[in-house]
Amino acid sequence: MVYKRILLKISGESLSGDQDYGIETNRLNTYAQEIKKVVDMGVEIAMVIGGGNIFRGLSVLGSGLDRVQGDHMGMLATVINGLALQVSIENVGIPTRLQTAIRMESIAEPYIRRRAVRHLEKGRVVIFGSGTGNPFFTTDSAAVLRAAEIGADVVLKGTRVDGIYNTDPEKDNNAKKFDSISFNEAMAKKIKVMDSTAFTLSYENNLPIIVFDMNKKDNLKRVVSGEKIGTICKS
Ligand code: UDP
Repeated sequence: MVYKRILLKISGESLSGDQDYGIETNRLNTYAQEIKKVVDMGVEIAMVIGGGNIFRGLSVLGSGLDRVQGDHMGMLATVINGLALQVSIENVGIPTRLQTAIRMESIAEPYIRRRAVRHLEKGRVVIFGSGTGNPFFTTDSAAVLRAAEIGADVVLKGTRVDGIYNTDPEKDNNAKKFDSISFNEAMAKKIKVMDSTAFTLSYENNLPIIVFDMNKKDNLKRVVSGEKIGTICKS
């Protein structure tokens, strides 16, 4: 394996599978199987899960509701997903811990960096819920932040697209995929790898990001093994 400790970011939307909203159990169970393959290789896995399948703070804009309140709702949505993910990963026999940036001790541990690292060392999958705990951020930013804090080797962004393209591949048939792109090139070409806060944090901390198709069987394992899957964005 090339990466010993990874931060895997999965968007909330990917959990909804073919549905428009919510959590598709089959998808969740498939992800758990894929995660197990990598845990079995001895890789330490921390995860950040999004909440877009349930609620996004930005959706309140224009409705008269307050953005901060909306973001709080969005962060709680990520905890719902985290709880679901926790069960499905434990169902395949892997111990997990859910840690949240917003304290809610009766259902999850509070985020404590040293404790998170200890869990990883013991082979537990650590799921970070409620993003950064602050409004106006995204779970992409939470992923890079936590990855930097716990000393992850790489941020793996599992999506339904197989990498970074020069234009949107879902809208443009001629879109060209990059195998590798530098942070500077991505910035110069104004390519959105992640939202700009997350991207800047990655760049400043020299933390590579790999965007890959998480829905393809064995892809996670292949990425961790160093196969050139998806697109790597690095210095
Ligand atoms: N959110 C937030 N602060 C954070 C992370 C998330 O306020 O640090 C809120 C924000 O409203 C966001 C929602 O939680 O829209 C769900 O997260 P995100 O949109 O990143 O989920 P994804 O797109 O990955 O499903």
